[in-house]
Amino acid sequence: MNLIQHYINGKIYKGSSSRKGKVFNPATGAQESEVILGTKSDLDHAVENAKTAFEKWSQVTPLQRARIIFKYKELIEKNYDELTKLIVSEHGKVYEDAKGSLTRGLEIVEFACGIPQMLKGEFTENVGTNIDSWSMRQPLGVCAGITPFNFPAMVPMWMFPMAIACGNTFILKPSEKDPSCSIRLAQLFSEAGLPNGVLNVVNGDKEVVDSILTNKDIKAVSFVGSTPIAKYIYENAAKNEKRVQALGGAKNHCVVMPDCDMDQAVNGLMGAAYGSAGERCMAQSVAVAVGGIGDKLVEKLSKKVEALKVGPGLDKTSEMGPLVTKEHLEKVRGYVDLGVKEGAKLVVDGRDIKLQGYENGFFIGGCLFDNVTKNMRIYNEEIFGPVLSVVRVKDFNDAIQLINDHEFGNGTSVYTRDGDVGRTFANKIKVGMVGINIPIPVPVAFHSFGGWKRSLFGDLHMHGPEGVKFYTKLKTITSRWPSGIGSDPEFTMPTMK
Ligand code: NAD
Repeated sequence: MNLIQHYINGKIYKGSSSRKGKVFNPATGAQESEVILGTKSDLDHAVENAKTAFEKWSQVTPLQRARIIFKYKELIEKNYDELTKLIVSEHGKVYEDAKGSLTRGLEIVEFACGIPQMLKGEFTENVGTNIDSWSMRQPLGVCAGITPFNFPAMVPMWMFPMAIACGNTFILKPSEKDPSCSIRLAQLFSEAGLPNGVLNVVNGDKEVVDSILTNKDIKAVSFVGSTPIAKYIYENAAKNEKRVQALGGAKNHCVVMPDCDMDQAVNGLMGAAYGSAGERCMAQSVAVAVGGIGDKLVEKLSKKVEALKVGPGLDKTSEMGPLVTKEHLEKVRGYVDLGVKEGAKLVVDGRDIKLQGYENGFFIGGCLFDNVTKNMRIYNEEIFGPVLSVVRVKDFNDAIQLINDHEFGNGTSVYTRDGDVGRTFANKIKVGMVGINIPIPVPVAFHSFGGWKRSLFGDLHMHGPEGVKFYTKLKTITSRWPSGIGSDPEFTMPTMK
């Protein structure tokens, strides 16, 4: 059995724990690895190394840091296939989708190559007579990232390239369900010339997370995962005086207006609801049918959902892979059972899918519900599987109200040909990432990613300009040389005279 360990100070590290987690291949259902679930002392060991590494790394010039990151970019490109297969083998998503997610992560690395430009401060000559003032952004110290299972490369890459480019050192605690990709990404960074101790990976579960939250030397925590844990991280990191950004769950609505290009909307919804088996925080899990278009929308969707090619991620013909674990499969199936009990109409039922040769894999086919209403749990809760709910509303205003009343506010889209509708939607909707005729409006690397309401606790979004702000603190200097005028004592604030 393959043993997945930690990566600390540039080396694979076994640590002191006797606890191990199981890592499965979701397509076959077989356990292929076990991962060490670290202890407080493993985490403390990583922090000690990261703290020592910070002394030097924070003094490396941004240009030199950027050169190492450029080299890292090349190494990721060279090892694309290996990294993609690691994602597929532990997460289950289909190969091309896994490759796409790695590309989104690589784009953050590319953005981080421009760090010298982003760390330029501001300067004002003569804020007072012969007095100059400037501001600069400095790194925080040791930062930590705690990441979910659904993007084993991309979400960690939202965090560590930015933190490291800004001069920090980093401890990554990846999901214990698919940790291998993080270890490989860290090894490649070392190969690119990153000094030992700058990027460390500590595997584990709650014990490591709680040790991160209470460690006095960790200055900032970035979290992505479910809302209850995001809230827990936000509260406890803040209580321990850390900077924190904690991204949580989602229930994303796609509004389909009667005037839209229906085929474009249906194709957009198919990819957004069933891509990665619905295990995306930006998945569209609710289609809001406006006016009288519900019947047409459901008819078109149902044909496509029935035709979805479900299969193992490495099979090039598969459009949708398995779910990540047996427990998660049972949870998603349970939600479909619940929807039927709650009175929604199950138009396509993917619960009993069986794949020859993959009978033990964690597969479920695409499911489509119609007549879902606001009071149902399948509407209110995040299912995180290939289950799309159609909610019918009278008009555009009702669609906006529905979305704004929901506890989550990660992403949303509208399909329309009416510019006025698109503009009003962008203006009125209480959601962080908005698409107009775009099914999954994920901001690119040089913008920033984040939701509203209970989809994000904290002030700053991830990566892009907000990422630079999160991983640096601002210092403003006001300076006068001795030859400048005015050396008498002054006891009052400056006046207009
Ligand atoms: P999760 O919350 O179960 O786990 C996330 C991380 O928290 C993991 O590293 C895990 O080890 C740790 N964790 C789990 N339980 C913990 C506990 N009790 N105490 C301390 N740490 C704990 O999430 P998941 O199932 O891995 O990922 C799916 C969730 O992530 C979904 O809700 C999805 O919407 C969300 N997500 C959100 C975004 C976003 O940008 N908002 C992006 C990706 C995923």
